[in-house]
Amino acid sequence: MGLPISFEFFPPKTPEGAEKLRAVRQKLYALKPEFCSVTYGAGGSTQQGTFDTVGEILAEGVSAASHFSCIGATKASVRDQLATLKAMGVKRLVALRGDLPSGYGAGGEFHYASDLVAFIRAETGDDFHIEVAAYPEVHPQAKSPEADLQAFAAKARAGADSAITQYFYNSDAYFRFVDDAHRLGVDIPVVPGIMPITSSSQLLRFSDACGAEIPRWIRLRLQAYGDDVESIKAFGLDVVTDLCDQLITAGVPALHFYSMNQSVPTLGILDGLAQR
Ligand code: FAD
Repeated sequence: MGLPISFEFFPPKTPEGAEKLRAVRQKLYALKPEFCSVTYGAGGSTQQGTFDTVGEILAEGVSAASHFSCIGATKASVRDQLATLKAMGVKRLVALRGDLPSGYGAGGEFHYASDLVAFIRAETGDDFHIEVAAYPEVHPQAKSPEADLQAFAAKARAGADSAITQYFYNSDAYFRFVDDAHRLGVDIPVVPGIMPITSSSQLLRFSDACGAEIPRWIRLRLQAYGDDVESIKAFGLDVVTDLCDQLITAGVPALHFYSMNQSVPTLGILDGLAQR
């Protein structure tokens, strides 16, 4: 395909999950990703798991990006964790505000991801390539689309090198977001985040909460398949491969796959693209 690709994983919760993820990674490495990223739980839930998985990826000879969220954190704790990541050989971060798990109070010394990006730059100079999140269909807590765009621009001005989007199935929202960012003088690469479609209820439930919209025609088709998992997978593969094809044709800088710790859905999409 020639376009840079990257894969995202979440830290497994069990030894069996960790073993399964090792096998998944080996299959995906065959596609020569630019890097693999590992998500990070806000409020202390999965930091060690993130660092462990990042360490394994580095030991496998692949560039690893650690997601890093700042909600509820102090400057001292962020400083410590940056030092740990640097000592591990991590060169890439996905800098996020994050969401506190329910039951945690706000607090902490960072309010927005732009605060974290500025802090990382001030503390560590150019040691890390900093990615930030972008929301073509608008972050669910944003005061308005324009305010969200300004918040994105603030992350770029604070020193972000590039961005990865929340997943979307409506490419017009992505193209408009990139155009609007350019209008504000923001020209960092904005890499589409691609979520394979493998199940119906999980995707529909999750999307409402995270600022991604499932277009009506996709929602209705998924609902109509009911428990017919094979048809859902075949339909999802077709829809997401078409989306990627359209994005590649339009000249996107790279594609980032939300692997959900599975190899088959992402490999299916990349295989389909290679055959076009
Ligand atoms: P921000 O960019 O800080 O934005 C958060 C909200 O605040 C937005 O509504 C924005 O409009 C608003 N805002 C920003 N600045 C200002 C300001 N100055 N004044 C007023 N409002 C402002 N979550 C995890 O917990 N772990 C992960 O590993 C993880 N990885 C992710 C990876 C990607 C690529 C994406 C797209 C999301 C990821 N998330 C992750 C989810 C993310 O943490 C949530 O969407 C979170 O709610 C926002 O984080 P952010 O970094 O985008 O926040």
